[in-house]
Amino acid sequence: MKFELLQLEEDRIRYLLSGVTPAFSNGIRRACMSEVPVLAIDEISLYDNTSVLFDEQISLRLGEVPLKAEDIDVFSEPEECQCGGTGCPGCRVDFMLSMEGPGMVYSKDIQFTDPSVKPAFDKIPIVILGEGEKLVIEGYATKRVGKEHSKWQAGTLCGYKNEPSFEIGATCDGCGKCVEICPRNILAIQDGRAKATNILECSLCKLCVDACEAGALKLTPILDSFVVSVESCGCMPARDLVERAAKEIKKRALDLDAKLAELS
Ligand code: SF4
Ligand code: SF4
Ligand SMILES: [Zn+2]
Repeated sequence: MKFELLQLEEDRIRYLLSGVTPAFSNGIRRACMSEVPVLAIDEISLYDNTSVLFDEQISLRLGEVPLKAEDIDVFSEPEECQCGGTGCPGCRVDFMLSMEGPGMVYSKDIQFTDPSVKPAFDKIPIVILGEGEKLVIEGYATKRVGKEHSKWQAGTLCGYKNEPSFEIGATCDGCGKCVEICPRNILAIQDGRAKATNILECSLCKLCVDACEAGALKLTPILDSFVVSVESCGCMPARDLVERAAKEIKKRALDLDAKLAELS
């Protein structure tokens, strides 16, 4: 297996993974979205809501606010907690939201009792309060995984494509038609011939192949090599997200291994 980092930002990572099956690459992608546990607001008690939004809409908006914990590992999923899931500081993080208009209620106004937990972004709008309108809410966040509900989905945009292989045959006369038609602007004419300037940006649309009357272009997907993009919802750095997704898959493989060992 070969790994090459192409781009790394706080919330985004892009890498080239070669020598693996599509199932393996897809497994990491799926685990990023559905298997990595994060915190999200789970239950709320609404004491006052005189805003223009229904209680259910407020509840939905709060649930979708990504939360960031300094150390997500200090929290347990409720079913695995020593309290047995009844609720304790090990599996719940309480919060309070109390605002009076006029003004916009933002995610930063959600105040958690545990200072190591906060919304990943300060300026997610919840609702505009008019003069004298009130919003008073208490509730708690729990740690779960995205396959239970999308509000616990750590990875948002997670996808991959095959690495393209681009060959230019001897019949290329440098007419430039492929350069003109490429929607990604990744082709150029150099020394009278077509050339790919950044082949990893190719979407494999094959418009260039169709435009080439000389039949000089050959574009094929490399079947065991993938350009993978993962974007975190903000709950953790994208690099950590991919690492945790890989560890979740490893954990399952080890569990299976142990079960098979029991049979022998
Ligand atoms: S369209 Fe074909 S012949 Fe024209 S520059 Fe591109 S590869 Fe060469
Ligand atoms: S396949 Fe599409 S994106 Fe790729 S080089 Fe050709 S025209 Fe550009
Ligand atoms: Zn607990």
